[in-house]
Amino acid sequence: MYQSRLPNFIKKEFPKDEESYNAKILVRAGFVDKLMAGVYTYLPLGLRVLEKITNLVREEINALGAQEIRMPALSPKENWQRTGRWESFDALFKLIGRDKKEYALGPTHEEIVVPLSQKAIFSYKDLPLALYQIQTKFRDEARAKAGLLRGKEFLMKDLYSFHADQKDLDSFYEKVSFAYKRIFQRLGLKALKVEASGGTFSKYSHEFQVFLENGEDEIVYCSHCSFAQNKEIFEENKGYCPLCRSFSLKIGRASEVGNIFKLGTNYSHPFSLKYKDKEGKENLVLMGCYGIGISRLMGVLAEVFHDQDGLIWPANVAPFKVHLLALFGSNKKENRKILERARQIYKKLTALKIEVLFDERLDKSAGEKLVESDLIGIPLRLVVSQKTKDKIEFKERKKKKAQLLGLSSILSKINSLK
Ligand code: ATP
Ligand code: MG
Repeated sequence: MYQSRLPNFIKKEFPKDEESYNAKILVRAGFVDKLMAGVYTYLPLGLRVLEKITNLVREEINALGAQEIRMPALSPKENWQRTGRWESFDALFKLIGRDKKEYALGPTHEEIVVPLSQKAIFSYKDLPLALYQIQTKFRDEARAKAGLLRGKEFLMKDLYSFHADQKDLDSFYEKVSFAYKRIFQRLGLKALKVEASGGTFSKYSHEFQVFLENGEDEIVYCSHCSFAQNKEIFEENKGYCPLCRSFSLKIGRASEVGNIFKLGTNYSHPFSLKYKDKEGKENLVLMGCYGIGISRLMGVLAEVFHDQDGLIWPANVAPFKVHLLALFGSNKKENRKILERARQIYKKLTALKIEVLFDERLDKSAGEKLVESDLIGIPLRLVVSQKTKDKIEFKERKKKKAQLLGLSSILSKINSLK
């Protein structure tokens, strides 16, 4: 893409009305724009990242055999009354229509997916079933001050599974857990699988947590074995690990990027979601639900992958693979040559289906272009200028050193980029 076509949302300074680093840098580098607390527009660069995260998650969830659907954000009060959550879900956004009826903007979709699946589940032959969506959620969050980590409107992947028996639910739960590990690994994140908060419920639920200095959760974990628990439920003891008994417990701040729950019959019961078994007897369907915070992940990636100069996107989700800069000087004839050389490189790379952002802007100085390039954080930078002569300057965003190379060695570097 020609950078001159990209609306320039990049700012010289960090915004003053943001507290969290992810929001500061994503606003400054032109990835998102804040409409109000907890509500953001995804700009061209930001949307590319969000869609890449979405597609990566979609691939792994499809591999589980789950089917993608898209449920409405708007839902009737009755569904929420049925489960008691019209009253108990304190972050539920409620609306009144011109028909004087009340509605909710979906913060999660058990109340919609259960009556939906009832239309396709009759006998044990219809099970197991797994439905998911990647959709915008609404929550009236009390403290929406952490940028993309806590939105009032945010993107979530929510998967729901339906089973005839506990064994089947248990084995699907483990499969989802492995899929989650793969997803976070592919994003370059170290996510710790943690026993969730929520009292007795915790046995049936796990969170995936990424360590972050300003994460909202506190995790107690053992540096010696795999024990990890959300601090909210951790029972104080004499400081040793309840699993391996070594005195290796540590506490760290983290952000929850996903979670998995065995719901059992919690939601099939109020909606009377049943199936007929082989003997023709009716039983309640067992359920699991599994969330991933897609837009929160984008915030977490910004918190984890940056330096003092800006973002450093992992190649898998970077808005572009290559940032090609044509740097001009004062000699017009020379500038025309530089532009022509850079254009040739751009054409060759795009013909090879490599995603390139091409900074061919004439009205920006070399200094400005280099600063903006570091802010945006595309993994590879190529520079064509008077200094580079018939070579190209190649630099990885995460490294300090640049090299002068020919196009063929640059192509092999691009191909080896993970
Ligand atoms: P939290 O404890 O952080 O509020 P939650 O327990 O409410 O999360 P779920 O309702 O299960 O989370 O949502 C599934 C996933 O959606 C979470 O693991 C998280 O990654 C993401 N998520 C939840 N609330 C928000 C929010 N307000 N903004 C952005 N992402 C969110
Ligand atoms: Mg919450």
